[in-house]
Amino acid sequence: MSSLFPSLTDGPAGRPALRFGERSLTYGELASAAGAVAGRLAQARRVAVWATPTPETAVAVTAALLAGVPVVPLNPRSGGKELGHILTDSAPDLVLTTPGGELPAPLDALPRVDVDPAAGGTLPGDRARDPEDPALIVYTSGTTGPPKGAVLPRRAIATTLDALAEAWRWTGDDVLVHGLPLFHVHGLVLGVLGPLRRGGSVRHLGRFTTGGVARELNDGATMLFGVPTMYHRIAETLPDDPELAGALAGARLLVSGSAALPVHDHERIAAATGRRVIERYGMTETLMLCSSRWAPPGPRPGARADGEPRAGTVGVPLPGVELRLVEEDGTPVAALDGESVGEIQVRGPNLFTGYLNRPDATAAAFTGDGFFRTGDMAVRDPDGCVRIVGRRATDLIKSGGYKIGAGEIENALLEHPGVREAAVTGEPDPDLGERIVAWIVPADPGSPPTLDALAGHVAGRLAPHKRPRVLRHLDSLPRNDMGKIMKRALSQG
Ligand code: ATP
Ligand code: MG
Repeated sequence: MSSLFPSLTDGPAGRPALRFGERSLTYGELASAAGAVAGRLAQARRVAVWATPTPETAVAVTAALLAGVPVVPLNPRSGGKELGHILTDSAPDLVLTTPGGELPAPLDALPRVDVDPAAGGTLPGDRARDPEDPALIVYTSGTTGPPKGAVLPRRAIATTLDALAEAWRWTGDDVLVHGLPLFHVHGLVLGVLGPLRRGGSVRHLGRFTTGGVARELNDGATMLFGVPTMYHRIAETLPDDPELAGALAGARLLVSGSAALPVHDHERIAAATGRRVIERYGMTETLMLCSSRWAPPGPRPGARADGEPRAGTVGVPLPGVELRLVEEDGTPVAALDGESVGEIQVRGPNLFTGYLNRPDATAAAFTGDGFFRTGDMAVRDPDGCVRIVGRRATDLIKSGGYKIGAGEIENALLEHPGVREAAVTGEPDPDLGERIVAWIVPADPGSPPTLDALAGHVAGRLAPHKRPRVLRHLDSLPRNDMGKIMKRALSQG
């Protein structure tokens, strides 16, 4: 297998690689700093990285990957309990971090290596490494249960980044801007390793702000990656911010992922900027699976030819990804009718090798013929585009003999002017099996919309059986670090 980051050793040393606020590193400086760290990892079997949004994190991860030592990225905001679980589960030999930074108690027992981005060393070559060697152990977002450690081999990382490069025409000339956390695959694999594999550069905002996005896009950045809560902030800001609208209009790619982008936000951004946000779908375990845009030419079988993203879909499978929809009893869903729901199952070289220390969960996650069960339910539209209706565990409501996806009801609710945020769940009902519950953050807490008004609004847009039967108001929705709605927390009260 070739190197994960050929530009680190073969490209021009003076090219910009990373910028975090005022601190930036060229490829030459990154190679040198990573070389210094790699020299200290010789005895390590597995290392943790305290994944703050800093150059130190990028240097640490690059060093370990090139030295062939698997990395466990840690969320610097995770509580002691979650951190304890991840440390016990992954048992790293040491933790890489910024000099002087405080680390919480669960890390006390671990030897610590301070990363100096100005240090000089020689980078080990990684060309001879086995593609199946583990590179990253990334814990899932914990949206549906305790986070599980997904073991990602080098092969999966290279494959997914190259598939995105093909689909998005992502090259070394691209400059990416984002403010994503670096302890999940979105910010780390796509947002840092992605530009480094292409020989391009990334500018990290530290903390996401719409002002930072506008500034960087107006200053040469070509692509923006974000989660839906960030695009929601952008959609809310656009009417009063012509500079932001101009900056987004000039970007080459705007990409959203990690959770469903509400149709309302997608349409508001399109109306204000003339640009449609690309939605891509992926998971920690599988890396990237689908994208709502394909660079022309090159429509794939069943894919849209022009690749213009359409709100509410995640598009078609990326190169190398085999994707099928399967009913509960194992019957494949062949119809491209936008109605027939099945679980998304996937196979391809982008997949993980298994959950750390969880042979049971790993075995249960795969079918006999090697497909990974995503737990996400979807339909396919006549043009082949995949529309995710939600997670099997929390978003599929069985009511009155129908299987109803929470997502389309949430999208309809969000189009009501009295609704700022919406989540839909099911709860037991003696007549219907389950009844639809709408959890609403009202736009104006002083005059929240009534159940009748919202039920009428939904029934006018979707089939009548999709209207909510119960309405609950909240000040905010429970969300995790990726902005994902924690539906378990809602249902448990
Ligand atoms: P856990 O597995 O620990 O419960 P999680 O599934 O949220 O948490 P991740 O691997 O970070 O952990 O997230 C993958 C999930 O995110 C997918 O299974 C899917 O439900 C959701 N997702 C990602 N991208 C999209 C998208 N574009 N549209 C809808 N859902 C998405
Ligand atoms: Mg998951």
